[in-house]
Amino acid sequence: MSSEGRPGQLLVLSAPSGAGKTTLARAFLARHADAVFSVSATTRAPRGAERDGVDYHFVTPARFAEWVAEGAFAEWADVFGRRYGTLKRTVQEALSRGQVALFDIDVQGGEQLKAAFPREATTVFILPPSAEELERRLRGRSTDGEDAIAKRLAMAHAEVRRGLRTYQYVVVNDELEAALASIEAIAERERLRLADRTDPALDARIARFRREAAELGAWRDHAGA
Ligand code: ADP
Ligand code: 5GP
Repeated sequence: MSSEGRPGQLLVLSAPSGAGKTTLARAFLARHADAVFSVSATTRAPRGAERDGVDYHFVTPARFAEWVAEGAFAEWADVFGRRYGTLKRTVQEALSRGQVALFDIDVQGGEQLKAAFPREATTVFILPPSAEELERRLRGRSTDGEDAIAKRLAMAHAEVRRGLRTYQYVVVNDELEAALASIEAIAERERLRLADRTDPALDARIARFRREAAELGAWRDHAGA
């Protein structure tokens, strides 16, 4: 609990690359003054306009290994041959300030965070409307070559299969505004739950988009879920 008595919240967003997670996270942060982005540590090099301490804490493999040995991470994982991790201090700061911390981490990291903070963490898996649309978005973003796109699509199926099984919520990012509204509803409901309150209207809304996601057959076939 924060000093104002508001519970902090850990909102984990995971998705196959290209699903629109970055777009949704930015939009959420722009609309919620009490939300902060959880800056992870990584051993990969900065890309494009990325800034140290803002997008990631860019560290050497040796420093990362030191932090692992010291038990400084709340969770960490190998992704595409690089290491990524959430520092315990980042989580503790958000919780002690009563903030909503947004995590852009992969499914293995999300599962670890949920296990470490079962009460405060909420896991949301973002699904593109179809595998075909995911491919279109990856190409549209045009940051990847053909090889990288093929690799990301292959990874996407494994990630979707796992996310559908282990995450608490699934949000389909078909129309951006609707997907954002769903994430906001989830955050609000979980925040109420932390304060031991409920809102039946909110629950009904969430049940409705959950049904819609469950009826989305396209990914079930692809993911074998
Ligand atoms: P991720 O962070 O999951 O890899 P991005 O946020 O970079 O994905 O989005 C991938 C591409 O898809 C971007 O070009 C983005 O503008 C586009 N995009 C995101 N959400 C939608 C949506 N709901 N409809 C259409 N295009 C979208
Ligand atoms: P990118 O290199 O494209 O920024 O990220 C690659 C992948 O690593 C993405 O799936 C991203 O969600 C994931 N990732 C980023 N930070 C972390 C982290 O701290 N922990 C874990 N487990 N995954 C992360």
